Amino acid sequence: AKQNGKGGYAFFKPELDAAARRRVSLEEALRIAILRDELSIAIQSQYSPLSQIKGGEVLVRWLNGPDGVPVSPAEFIPVAETSGLIKPLTLLVLSKALAVVTELMDAGILLPLSVNFSTDLFRDVTLIDGVLALVAESGVPPELLVLEITESLFIDTQADVLANMERLSTAGLKFSLDDFGTGYSNLAYLKRMHLSELKIDKSFVDHLPHDDDNRAIVRSILSIARQLRLRVVAEGVETAAQADFLSAHGCDLLQGYLLHKPAPAAEWVSSVKLLKSE
Ligand code: C2E
Ligand code: CA
Ligand code: CA
Ligand code: CA
Repeated sequence: AKQNGKGGYAFFKPELDAAARRRVSLEEALRIAILRDELSIAIQSQYSPLSQIKGGEVLVRWLNGPDGVPVSPAEFIPVAETSGLIKPLTLLVLSKALAVVTELMDAGILLPLSVNFSTDLFRDVTLIDGVLALVAESGVPPELLVLEITESLFIDTQADVLANMERLSTAGLKFSLDDFGTGYSNLAYLKRMHLSELKIDKSFVDHLPHDDDNRAIVRSILSIARQLRLRVVAEGVETAAQADFLSAHGCDLLQGYLLHKPAPAAEWVSSVKLLKSE
């Protein structure tokens, strides 16, 4: 321990220090990666219970991170969210997603894509303007764009957040509530928030159909969704037994490694074109 300016002692914590330094270096590298357009997207298909492709989720990828090693979005998205980089990052991901939808449209294929949107973005009017401008420029029907948001948005029911969501929803964009069941679930909000879809979190899909609690939770989510006329997507489907249980109980769409692993956008586009030309 060494003495600090206030006459007390500041303890040197090497682990904390390393974590803080990693964050700073990630932030610097991410800023440059965004400027140089070094982020890419992967897409994971979503299927009906009859195994028809119905759309895909867009997932950002940073393959060439510091030291030339890929960095997981689970690590760099929180850094982006606390550094202001989430806004340019999201607009970049969105424009890549729109390019994919456009390429499929040119081949006569209409498939919606879901894009993850961090909660804080809905406080920023200029971001909303940017989203609407990109969609308008692309010529993509707004209905083919689904924004995945999380329940943390509902804690903050500031008027401007609601107004910003409403602008996007009025323009035709769809909203999906991601990781449903893990956050602050006030069911009254489900109706107010212009949602068209719920995504059941992977933690509830895990251990289906054997786990009694998860079975009950998934069935009640499906029943609430049916009453509110919301579509339901299950994420993290890894086994046929999970897929069978979810399908039997009326889940609309399935997403997970059992059906498809996220693939680079170009590869995904080719495989969808091939599928649709059969
Ligand atoms: P998420 O939105 O819950 O996305 C699902 C994550 O689960 C993805 O991880 C996906 O690759 C993974 N996954 C899909 N199927 C399975 C499965 O069957 N088993 C398992 N174990 N995992 C599966 P990924 O790509 O590493 O993304 C992690 C998180 O990072 C995402 O979680 C999302 O919260 C965030 N994220 C990713 N891309 C973006 C983005 O463009 N913007 C923002 N704001 N967040 C993003
Ligand atoms: Ca998501
Ligand atoms: Ca999710
Ligand atoms: Ca999740």
